[in-house]
Amino acid sequence: MQNIQAPKGTKDVLPSESHKWHYIEKTMREMCALYGARELRTPIIEHTELFLRGVGDTTDIVQKEMYTFTDKGNRSITLKPEGTAGMVRAFIENRLFNEPMPQKLYYLNSPTFRYEKPQAGRLREHHQFGIETVGAFTPETDAEVILLALSLFKKLGVGDLMLHINSIGCPECRKEYNAALRAYLSEYINEMCETCRSRFEKNPMRIIDCKEEKCRNIVKNAPRTIDYLCDSCKRHFEGVKACLDAAGAQYVIDPDIVRGLDYYTGTVFEVISNRIGAQGAVCAGGRYNGLIEELGGQSIPAVGFGMGMERLLAVMEANEVVFPEPEGTEVYFAAQGEAPRMKAFALVQQLRENGVSAEFDHMERSFKAQFKYANKLGARFTVAIGEEELERGMVKIKCMADGEETEASLDDIVRYFK
Ligand SMILES: [Zn+2]
Ligand SMILES: [Zn+2]
Repeated sequence: MQNIQAPKGTKDVLPSESHKWHYIEKTMREMCALYGARELRTPIIEHTELFLRGVGDTTDIVQKEMYTFTDKGNRSITLKPEGTAGMVRAFIENRLFNEPMPQKLYYLNSPTFRYEKPQAGRLREHHQFGIETVGAFTPETDAEVILLALSLFKKLGVGDLMLHINSIGCPECRKEYNAALRAYLSEYINEMCETCRSRFEKNPMRIIDCKEEKCRNIVKNAPRTIDYLCDSCKRHFEGVKACLDAAGAQYVIDPDIVRGLDYYTGTVFEVISNRIGAQGAVCAGGRYNGLIEELGGQSIPAVGFGMGMERLLAVMEANEVVFPEPEGTEVYFAAQGEAPRMKAFALVQQLRENGVSAEFDHMERSFKAQFKYANKLGARFTVAIGEEELERGMVKIKCMADGEETEASLDDIVRYFK
């Protein structure tokens, strides 16, 4: 019979790698605490309707990439393809708008599913970290969210990054922009992919982030949102830039960023790494002032970003970041013979109950093999217990780093390590 393999585009995190994840998660939590953000956990599944309305039914994500199924109750359910819609749903449903504003909410290690082409190195299940600041409209808020991402990269030792920012305007400036975009695109309608042809009337901006080669060539010279901003959007964007300047953050204005989700308004941004090839965005986000209302809440502004954690890990490795090693076993008890083995077993349990990591032989190995194993575990100390030691009530504690030996009484050993 053939072995069962993990589904295409999914990845196991092995024990030899998981400490890297722990380090990243811990750093993210600490950073969020510094910025006053609190964790909001939402389910992996949501009603499909949420993403049709939230992400937008003409986006690539919704039209091509979602994992959608009908459950036994005949409901259409979708595995989260991004983090924001679920956060906003939970914000409205749990009436978090009754709490003091703004609400800074983060999610971490959140499984995210998109039916992508795995040959491009893209995962179908990946994990996201993200923050959403809800309730504040000021440019400072956009800048703060961006700076949280930059601080995190700095803390994690990731360099060689560039912040790209743009503004895609509000519904007010979008009218004029869409008209200009349609006028430009109308000449190329027959050259576009089928999906984009259907987007032309409904939502021409989504043609700009189509991944099809022929569509990408068409939009190269398309009008840019930044040239169509209304006064209020212009002022806001200037404000964001001024805040980034005040904080000493480097950035470039990148009119090509439109983000492939309908909910964005105004500021959009990406943090690009020069170390991981063409699709180097390691963090992306923006402002979404219309989404909460679109999903049935009040008109409340918000801004946030999402960050793929696998990609972050890849960038950290490309930056040759040294991860803190996980703490190994403190004490290994090597024992031979029935009574000594039982003694070792009991001592290990006592030490663990006192908060000291300890290990014993599970395999009835020889003394020599047990010491070899202790070495592999990276045990800081080893204690050998044979019949003789048991009789005398004294054992030798060996420090593995320098080979130095100390004698101690068996009765005293828990206190010794504590
Ligand atoms: Zn505007
Ligand atoms: Zn297309």
